[in-house]
Amino acid sequence: MSTTDNLVEIRGLKVHFPVRAGILKRTVGVVKAVDGVDLDIRRGEILGLVGESGCGKTTVGRAILRLIPATAGTVRFDGKDLFSLKPSELKPLRREMQLVFQDPYSSLDPRSKVGDIVGEGLRVHGVTDRQERHERVRKALEMVGLQEEHMRRFPHEFSGGQRQRIGIARALVLNPKFIVCDEPVSALDVSIQSQVLNLLKDLQQELDLTLLFIAHDMSVVEHLCDRVAVMYLGKIVEVAERDELFRNPQHPYTRALMSAIPVADPRAKRERIILQGDPPSPLRPPSGCRFHTRCPEATELCAQREPALIDLGRAHLCACHLRQPEGQVAESVARVGG
Ligand code: SF4
Repeated sequence: MSTTDNLVEIRGLKVHFPVRAGILKRTVGVVKAVDGVDLDIRRGEILGLVGESGCGKTTVGRAILRLIPATAGTVRFDGKDLFSLKPSELKPLRREMQLVFQDPYSSLDPRSKVGDIVGEGLRVHGVTDRQERHERVRKALEMVGLQEEHMRRFPHEFSGGQRQRIGIARALVLNPKFIVCDEPVSALDVSIQSQVLNLLKDLQQELDLTLLFIAHDMSVVEHLCDRVAVMYLGKIVEVAERDELFRNPQHPYTRALMSAIPVADPRAKRERIILQGDPPSPLRPPSGCRFHTRCPEATELCAQREPALIDLGRAHLCACHLRQPEGQVAESVARVGG
């Protein structure tokens, strides 16, 4: 059921890709990139979606925007069921949902001037008046710290950080409500990353935007996001408010990701949890808990039964047999004991 607090509500989202082989291109398997994701994105928040590469986080972002088709599930945006809309009904909503790409080099057409790149969405959405387009592009560039004169230049004349600012201006020019930021700083130098992150934070507050911020490491989301969802092999394994998650991570996978965050104080020690092996293939995900092949706490039950994502209290959700709401005994512990 839709609540007014949530701008986006994702239920049972699956995105599977068939694997074809042979001359006849027969389907020989299915990559379960996203395999049953439930997630809410509240109005005006920055929700971080974190996981190793290949876990399905980018696919979730693109499926929400209907840039790739979903296999099953629903996504409600501002109360509207996106997957049941006809193209003509979807078009006005597209203005409200934008994407900032990971790679600021390949995502900008090298043959187009910045003014045309940023103004392209306005043209597509029927803003025919050149003067109005010019003014809106100028304002969008100004919001990201660029000037009117930059409209006449080509992408190769800009640094990586400036190109990402152009990508952000392109997303802002249509006055969206919601932006999916797909690893927007991972291709940038560390020295530039914080500038772009601060810009996104300022814009989110000024324009009351809702952001889904996709990242592969925890340190990037630590200072930016209001809440964080952790994803492993096509599933959400933990969701909590940022402070709660960083103070009290529950899922063994989240703990491993956190242990990799560099500590500024050389005297402070954090025990690094090294996960064994690579993530399994989403073509053949492990039985039961998908993390059991790498989990340092796995029990027999973990290979047999999939844990549900449950609320441990304080809106802290976790999918692990060993974590239960306060006062309840963990299932595997109960089994061993009884
Ligand atoms: Fe580890 Fe088992 Fe919890 Fe999965 S359910 S995270 S394998 S302890």
